[in-house]
Amino acid sequence: MKTRRVPIRTCVVCRQTSEKKALLRVVRAPEKDGGGVAVDPTGRANGRGAYVCASAECIDKAVKQKRFERSLSVGPVPPALAEALKSLAEKVAEKTGVAAQPTGAPEMI
Ligand SMILES: [Zn+2]
Repeated sequence: MKTRRVPIRTCVVCRQTSEKKALLRVVRAPEKDGGGVAVDPTGRANGRGAYVCASAECIDKAVKQKRFERSLSVGPVPPALAEALKSLAEKVAEKTGVAAQPTGAPEMI
């Protein structure tokens, strides 16, 4: 069996490298698609990507310190981006077992 090479990416905030699947991807859509910035849960969307740890700390810093704007050379990202990233972070944490927290009451959506 061949060992699969695990893709490694760098968090735009803390500069820590992690497996791609443990990081959250934010993608800048190509100009023809409007050039907007969005969370990319698949990690495969077209466009330029920036990565951030699946932690509330890094997400908050990324937004406050305008890391995505700088990394992707875009204007201000939508405020909802942080929320979208955080909810995705919870899913990633479940999948990877990172930062697993005891689950309390079922989440109201
Ligand atoms: Zn980080």
